[in-house]
Amino acid sequence: MTADTTGSTTPGIDYTDTPWLDPEARPLVQLRGLTKRYDDVAAVANVDLEIFAGELFAILGGSGSGKTTLLRMLAGFERPTEGQILIDGVDMTSVAPYDRPINMMFQSYALFPHMTVEQNVAYGLKKERINKAEIRERVDKMLDLVKLGKLAKRKPNRLSGGESQRVALARALVKRPKLLLLDEPLAALDKKLREHTQFELMNLQDDLGITFVIVTHDQEEAMTLATRIAVMNSGSFAQVGTPREIYEYPCNRFIADFVGNINLLDAEVISSADHRVHLRCDAAGAELVALLDNPGDEPPPAGARRCVAIRPEKIFIDKEPPSANDRTILKGIVLDLGYFGNLSIYRVQLPSGMVLQVSAQNRRRSATRALEWDDEVYVSWDIASAILLSE
Ligand code: ADP
Ligand code: MG
Repeated sequence: MTADTTGSTTPGIDYTDTPWLDPEARPLVQLRGLTKRYDDVAAVANVDLEIFAGELFAILGGSGSGKTTLLRMLAGFERPTEGQILIDGVDMTSVAPYDRPINMMFQSYALFPHMTVEQNVAYGLKKERINKAEIRERVDKMLDLVKLGKLAKRKPNRLSGGESQRVALARALVKRPKLLLLDEPLAALDKKLREHTQFELMNLQDDLGITFVIVTHDQEEAMTLATRIAVMNSGSFAQVGTPREIYEYPCNRFIADFVGNINLLDAEVISSADHRVHLRCDAAGAELVALLDNPGDEPPPAGARRCVAIRPEKIFIDKEPPSANDRTILKGIVLDLGYFGNLSIYRVQLPSGMVLQVSAQNRRRSATRALEWDDEVYVSWDIASAILLSE
């Protein structure tokens, strides 16, 4: 969606890629207080959300967090216990799944085994009684798009996992829904194919201009694909934001720990001055400094328990002591190291026994290791890289 199509705009600001920031933009999907209870358990609990046209929105959560239930309510297969779903401003409560401008691609793909690839893709259009010539044209175009033209006459039992996934995707897309819901669409694919398909999915979505809501338990997948991510935990959204916001500015310990690798250091506030917070951390055997994200935020009182979180790639590791200002510097020994080609992962043990994970790019071409097991090292980070978490 461009800012122009949404009515008046603020001059000088282009919201094309960030419609959720545009105060004038009208959301395609609105969830208001959406709740689904099974007996006493809320599978989805009071969820509010806006999704904008053109987004590739990811719902990320562990198993049982309520992702599928949320998607099934959107599609109309499950009736909300409470709350509202609006699409293009229209309440969907009494609209049947078939009449919603939505299509869903199921986790199992659910291909018809007795039909060929092209019959599978054409099925939904035939049910809509679209004329044969148009069906032919749309199916051919879609098979081209997902690169299945050569397999049009095959039956599903002779397709690989990746090919089946593309048939399911083509079948869902051929009906040109405004909104496509994908439940764990890549879970059945191996790692290489999954990465490849992620990019294809992004390109397809870009070409077709269809809004995608994708459910996944794979945080890397959500980070790679999504315009925005909602992290789901026990039926609620723990945080909604861009991949970068979620990764760099997690709002609590659960998110910080769930998305990416992170070192969590429990600490106690000694004092705060301006937006600098000084903390005592027994596990690090040192005083730590962290900055408030917004200088205007209320600083935490002395004695308060906080967690200082630091990502492995934000930590520098060296045999020589670093000299820059505003760095937290700790000493330790290399307990473990792993070489991954592009980067190396170190586990560094501090005198307290705590182990920090550090990752470093292997920038220099070298056949020998710069650091060895049991080496004494300095680990350090810019105080602005530390994340201060309160819960
Ligand atoms: P996810 O897709 O994130 O793994 P689900 O939405 O499938 O999670 O399930 C969320 C919770 O709701 C789980 O605790 C699950 O057991 C429960 N649940 C889902 N469907 C039903 C159902 N039809 N009846 C009872 N409980 C259900
Ligand atoms: Mg599920």
